Parts: sequence; C-alpha cells; structure tokens
Amino acid sequence: AGPQRIAKVIARAGACSRRDAEAWISEGRVALNGVVLTSPAVNVGDDDEITVDGAPLAQRAPTRLFLFHKPRGLVTTERDPEGRQTIFDYLREHWPDAPRLVSIGRLDINTEGLLLLTNDGGLARVLELPSTGWVRRYRVRAKGSTDQAVLDQLRHGVTVDGVAYAEIEAKLDRVQGANSWLTMGLREGKNREVKRVLEHLGLEVNRLIRLSFGPFQLADLPEGGFEEIRTRVLRDQL
Ligand code: URA
Repeated sequence: AGPQRIAKVIARAGACSRRDAEAWISEGRVALNGVVLTSPAVNVGDDDEITVDGAPLAQRAPTRLFLFHKPRGLVTTERDPEGRQTIFDYLREHWPDAPRLVSIGRLDINTEGLLLLTNDGGLARVLELPSTGWVRRYRVRAKGSTDQAVLDQLRHGVTVDGVAYAEIEAKLDRVQGANSWLTMGLREGKNREVKRVLEHLGLEVNRLIRLSFGPFQLADLPEGGFEEIRTRVLRDQL
C-alpha cells in the first residue's frame, strides 16, 4: 500500500476510530520512528514504525468482515452499564478464538437479524454512515392497523419529535390477528428509526428482524450464526 494518513493506519490496526487516533496524537501518545508527533497531518508507509503509548502498533491485520445473525436480548455495545449480555459476551462464549471485532452500526436489544462485524475500525466507521446510501431492510411485526394512508406517509417521510426521517419504502405483507407484518427499506438507519416512525403512526413494533444491510443479506444464516465474507467481494461492492 502507498503512504497513508497516520490516523487511518492506527484506526485500522487498533479497531479505534480515526478521530480517536487523532486525539491520541494530539495527546502526545503517538510516535513515528521514535519521534513523538504533534500533528496528525503525516503520511506513513509500510516501513515506518508507529508506537502508541510506547508500544509498537500491532502488525496490521487484513480486513475481515462477518455476518452475524443477532438473537434477541443482546445489546450491541462493548460494555453494558446495566450488566446485560452483549454481543461481545456472546462472541466470547461461542467463538473464543474470534479476532477482536467491532460492530458496523447497532441493533436494539430486542432487534434480531443481520449485524455486520469487522476487525477494521476504520471500515466500520465508513460503512455505518448514512452517506453510503445503503438500504437496511427489515421485516417488522407491529400491533395496530396498517392502511394505505400509513404506507403513504412512510413513503413521504415523517418528522417525529423534531427529527425528520427520509422516505421509507414499506409494504404490507400480511395481517395476523391484531398485528401487521411489514417489509421496510430505510436508507438512513437513524437511532430506533423503525420503532419511532411506526409508533408515530399508531403502530407498536413487537418484532423487528433486519434482513439486509446494503449488499449483504441475512438469507438462511441461522440465529446466533456467523459467516465470514471474503473482503475482496466487499471491496468490489464499495
Ligand atoms: N430501527 C429500530 O427501531 N431498531 C433497530 O434496532 C433498528 C432499526
């Protein structure tokens, strides 16, 4: 690889964000070839030696990407202040040899389905941005009646508590007792977007399953299962 910004290189190696790496530099924690840096505006190549807090930066690992079928009941965070089970607790239990991974975006505790995991913090920060324009598709079960007016409102975009949500494609798949099953496609992935917009339209979400994230599909991956994606495929799709 050619020369790259030092913060980017640190983010990749350490599964931290670029912004974290820049903060470390301004705190004087990073040295390049033995000289403490004061500015992140430095390019580095493969032969340069970077240390963080005096320790050499771990060899840069190749980017790896995994699909995970998140079960309900797990929180998507490194450490939960309330002590609930996290996806990383689940990983340690079911896959003790897993590389150090971060999630690409989050799913709520009761949301199931596709969550992407990677060892590349820089990649995670890029892919979770709304600017990728990647569609997140969900299957949703919600209590309340769904009529054409509801679907039209979703398609036009709604504002809830001052937050404007862009148009959402929504299709009513079937009605099951007091519940409706919908398929929804969102481009933004704002915090609790599905629940908030549906609640605003009088529907209470009681099951939420993410089916896809950009080009990646949950397909028949079993609940709790992992699948590695060849990153060459990923680079082609970016
Ligand atoms: N929308 C939600 O409300 N929750 C999720 O977990 C994902 C999208």
